[in-house]
Amino acid sequence: MDSAVSAQPVKPGFFPVLLQALFPENCLLCDERLTGGRLICRQCEVSDPLKPAPEFAPERYGRQFGFLYEGSGKALLKAAKFGHRRRARNFWIAAARPLLTHFAGEKTKLLALPSSKPFLQQLLQAVVPPERLVLNAFRTKRSAFFGNDANKFLGEAARYRRIHDSLQWNNQMIGEADRYIICDDVSTTGATLIHAARLTESHLRIAPERITIWALLYRPREFADHLRTPRQ
Ligand SMILES: [Zn+2]
Repeated sequence: MDSAVSAQPVKPGFFPVLLQALFPENCLLCDERLTGGRLICRQCEVSDPLKPAPEFAPERYGRQFGFLYEGSGKALLKAAKFGHRRRARNFWIAAARPLLTHFAGEKTKLLALPSSKPFLQQLLQAVVPPERLVLNAFRTKRSAFFGNDANKFLGEAARYRRIHDSLQWNNQMIGEADRYIICDDVSTTGATLIHAARLTESHLRIAPERITIWALLYRPREFADHLRTPRQ
């Protein structure tokens, strides 16, 4: 990926340039002072480039992930999602566009997972034509479930039960499509995406081959590769 970290979808306007001059920003990785509307300094960009996620063979559902959630990928995602940095969000919109354009053909519907942060919805709205995008296919029973860290402290089985209890089909009219893509921003275990895919499969009564799970970033875990052990 040639110099992807500095990719700018739009030229900075007068005010952002002025703000940058008055309040210079620091590199997201090394804290070095930045110039010229960058998010990551040139040195970090070379030593820690954004890495593509590995490819996974399909299981019950096809699986596609964009980038690795580590190093610059992690720093840029945090800046966009939790820091609400507009330039970081624009960076991801530019990075996601070729990936999603590749999938999101005319006969495709993209179903976004619910999120307490606007990042995923804004990303998809910027990239996917509105008639192919479904933002409310799922809902969470308890709004506190997503967006807090409680899940991190649960064991695998307990975490899965919680996802199972809280993520529900929202009884929306989804519309006909050849392919349905379930979208999230970061996927760690894949459990939420797989659960959403199962809801889609059963409510729309379609073959699993017509469903793909997609995440902008894939977060590898040190021990188990649970994507290889699908849950029932
Ligand atoms: Zn740096």
